[in-house]
Amino acid sequence: MSCLFCKIIANEIPASKVYEDVGVLAFNDIAPQAPVHILVIPKKHVDTVDELIEMSVISDLFAVMKKLAAELGIDKSGYRIVINHGQDAGQAVPHLHFHLLGGRKLAWPPG
Ligand code: 5GP
Ligand code: ZN
Repeated sequence: MSCLFCKIIANEIPASKVYEDVGVLAFNDIAPQAPVHILVIPKKHVDTVDELIEMSVISDLFAVMKKLAAELGIDKSGYRIVINHGQDAGQAVPHLHFHLLGGRKLAWPPG
């Protein structure tokens, strides 16, 4: 298996995991762009959001992000959920992931 995030799921590569259940994994980004920067992924490998829209795990992913935001105290101050899709958006890892960002004022529009 060559996918970096599948290796993290399989514990072949270490990661700072913050949540795990049967279908969802969340772990701290290795290069955080904000005080809170968590990657939330489906355990079933899908390349992009194009495939996710077919999957029931989508509501679980959002439930996990809501729960983590509350636990980390950014639910009131605000947070951003980002999916990069493809080259122009800068998707570097071809295993779909949601960035959950918060803990500071986030610039808008993004660069
Ligand atoms: P993308 O640009 O694909 O939307 O985001 C990929 C994210 O994965 C980046 O924010 C990057 O810092 C993060 N990342 C890349 N390699 C690793 C890794 O080995 N471990 C962790 N925890 N995050 C990684
Ligand atoms: Zn994968």
